[in-house]
Amino acid sequence: MMKVCKFGGSSVADAETVAHVCDIVLADPDRRIVVVSAPGKRDATDTKVTDMLIACAELALAGAPTEAHVHGITERFRNIQVGLDVPEDIAAIIHADLQARVAQVDKMPAAMFMDLMKAGGEDNSAKVIAAVLRHRGAKARYVNPGEAGLLLTADFGDAQLLPASYEKLASLGEGDDIVVFPGFFGQTPEGDIATFPRGGSDITGSILAAAVKADSYENFTDVDSVFAADPRIVPNAIAITELSFREMRELAYAGFSVVHDEAIIPAVHAGIPIYVKNTHSPENPGTRIVPQHDSSTSRVVGIASSSGFCTISVRKVLMNREIGFGRRLLHILEDEGISYEHTPSGIDDMSIVLKEKNLDSDRESQVLARIRQDLDVDDVSVERGLALLMIVGEGMRYAVGMAATATAALAKAKVNIEMMNQGSSEISMMFGIKAEARERAVRSLYQAFFEPPE
Ligand code: ASP
Repeated sequence: MMKVCKFGGSSVADAETVAHVCDIVLADPDRRIVVVSAPGKRDATDTKVTDMLIACAELALAGAPTEAHVHGITERFRNIQVGLDVPEDIAAIIHADLQARVAQVDKMPAAMFMDLMKAGGEDNSAKVIAAVLRHRGAKARYVNPGEAGLLLTADFGDAQLLPASYEKLASLGEGDDIVVFPGFFGQTPEGDIATFPRGGSDITGSILAAAVKADSYENFTDVDSVFAADPRIVPNAIAITELSFREMRELAYAGFSVVHDEAIIPAVHAGIPIYVKNTHSPENPGTRIVPQHDSSTSRVVGIASSSGFCTISVRKVLMNREIGFGRRLLHILEDEGISYEHTPSGIDDMSIVLKEKNLDSDRESQVLARIRQDLDVDDVSVERGLALLMIVGEGMRYAVGMAATATAALAKAKVNIEMMNQGSSEISMMFGIKAEARERAVRSLYQAFFEPPE
């Protein structure tokens, strides 16, 4: 058996949490590949090491002194080394490493330099954690992503995996030692360091799990599991024990953000079960995300909601007979470079749901003018301040009366439904409502689907 596990920034933020991580790794001999983030926040007022590195890089690019920043970042790592009595002077190595990175400032383009600096968080985090594991008597080694063959495109800050990496990384699982692998970055074919988007250590973990054909990918974070509704709205929401990848995508879309849905695609494609677990209670089973699951017994798995949406509503009598109307309407958005989310429609009307931030007032006037002019519509209007509710579950397609239950629950909470949409996959139902009604709508839906009267 071979498990790949990944620990996020809050799990490696200080000596205490790193000790916890090492306990978890050593408790199971199958945990042989450990992917780590850079130290995150120790409390709400703290700064993540990645953000400290970005600030340091900006100073270097502006020609300002960086020594105080380099010192501050080194201290974050030294606290871990000293706090866990590690005899190897890793902090000295890290200090030299950071200075060497800063010294590259004039030798490369700014975006490439920024990635070199950002990678210093994960890279040095892996070195410290490997040293702590060795100090605990384990056979552990730091592995450099570039040397191991994690190849990325040269899109600095937004790099993509080059597929040749899988074959190169496959041998990582062959030794009998614990591999400690930094998340978030890799190397371009030209040998430059490039990073994934922020939060990208999840992507590294998922890629390694796929490359070594792991039996599972454990993603350790600071929550117990994915809950059936946002616990800030429904404090007693039940934990979801199993989710299919598609359910996860739908929930993530509307605000569930425990693991990044795109990040887990490599592991999902390779058919590897993913577990979301809590570093602070590893005995808790967490949530299992599987490629497919038997949904004939489960109906709704979760209710998500997200505000910040608006609609452009267009009305034109006999729209249904006008060939190409929808295409021309959407073409206006395409032309203006605006992406949209959904397009519910009726016989004489069509609405476009989009994120409010994609339609500032200048763009709104431009788009409305073009719709009036090019499409000769009877009416067009914009409504802002909307929230979307998503009721998600693969099992909904086998169940009768799901929409009735949902609309009754919304009526009971006196929530006016502005819009409804059910995708053809029947895996989710979407309702558009006024943003101020969002929380009571979620509570009422949760009650209807998860706490129905006996
Ligand atoms: N340290 C990086 C960030 O803060 C990547 C990660 O933690 O996944 O975005």
